[in-house]
Amino acid sequence: MKTRGTGEPVALQALKQNKANIGSPILFDPSDICSAFVGLKGVRVLHYQRIGPVAEIAIEKIVSEVRCPMCGFIAHAKERPLVTYIDLPFGGTPTRIKWKKHRMVCINLSCAKRSWTLGDHRIAASHSLLTTRAAKWATKQVGGGRCVSEVAKELPQAQQPATTN
Ligand SMILES: [Zn+2]
Repeated sequence: MKTRGTGEPVALQALKQNKANIGSPILFDPSDICSAFVGLKGVRVLHYQRIGPVAEIAIEKIVSEVRCPMCGFIAHAKERPLVTYIDLPFGGTPTRIKWKKHRMVCINLSCAKRSWTLGDHRIAASHSLLTTRAAKWATKQVGGGRCVSEVAKELPQAQQPATTN
């Protein structure tokens, strides 16, 4: 096997330096691999659970400092509601995303903003039952001529996005 410098095979050196990789960096950490499979930007995977035929993946957004959009004061998370969305099947398994959201409160007592929930349209639009990618997929299917009931059968049973603490 061809080696250079460190004595490692050239192909392995190139792999570690990401030179042979056309796509994204190669991931070695299991959490990073899991997040990459889930495929939502800026989120951390909290847990996975299989409930009958449906897989549930709990996520949260990776949040650093949040400021009040009205007054600019620092905000704190006062609640972490869990909201469920229907996602695209993963590996042939019907899947739901359980998004542990951040309900924020402004620390400025004279601010009128009070509280708000952090959202991310890349994950799901407000008041939607579907993740954004599932909604796009369903729209494309129906736009391509499939009937709504047929498309709905391919997604896990709709569950009202109930908010729990
Ligand atoms: Zn404020």
